[in-house]
Amino acid sequence: VRVGVFGGTFNPVHLGHLRAAEEVREALSLERVLFVPARVPPHKGGEPVAPADVRLELVTRAVGGNPGFGVSDLELRREGPSYSVDTLTELQEGAAGEGELWFLMGADAYREVHTWHRYAELFRLANVAVMRRPPGAGPLVAPRGLAGDFAATGEGLRHRSGRHVRLVDITLLDISSTQVRRALARGCSIRYLVPEAIRPTLEALVRDNAHWFAGSRG
Ligand code: ATP
Ligand code: MG
Repeated sequence: VRVGVFGGTFNPVHLGHLRAAEEVREALSLERVLFVPARVPPHKGGEPVAPADVRLELVTRAVGGNPGFGVSDLELRREGPSYSVDTLTELQEGAAGEGELWFLMGADAYREVHTWHRYAELFRLANVAVMRRPPGAGPLVAPRGLAGDFAATGEGLRHRSGRHVRLVDITLLDISSTQVRRALARGCSIRYLVPEAIRPTLEALVRDNAHWFAGSRG
């Protein structure tokens, strides 16, 4: 079976995340997409975030009711920063590794992947689904420094390990956690930005813990 792995800070999870994951799940016939909230976001510098267990609880509730979605607390149980290579290694060693792992990544993140921790290994550990919001420009190119490891196929790129990198076009839902946090901070409506199942909880949380959602950077 094919299993998708969707990492992020999810501070908080929103409908953009959920719809993107659903479209990739369908496009690649994934049996499941695992949402993996990051413990310490290595790419975000020092800004406050909601505690990991709170973000995990919100994601769990948000994906509830979709049998094609699941949540993993793997990064929350591991000390130190959350690196995708470590997560994929752990998943590969566990039950999910018996299937085919597909790591979901936004096109913008993919373009910067050469700055990630041990990024070359990532493409040996899992297939990569690059989510692109049309009209996206140009064909899929190999990550910087790794051109020699990839060959073009009709459907994307093939790594020398046999794993694939594929482009998946998704609907543009231009929602970000930053936008949700800003609305929360101003007391503005977050209806239709986040699933209704977590909206009242988020509104209550921000009343007592405004600083959790005060980070302004994406
Ligand atoms: P922030 O504004 O705090 O950066 P975010 O909305 O970008 O939050 P993240 O937790 O940083 O959310 O993102 C997790 C993953 O979800 C990333 O791979 C990101 O590219 C993807 N993502 C975020 N928003 C969307 C969206 N609206 N549609 C599709 N993918 C998204
Ligand atoms: Mg982001």
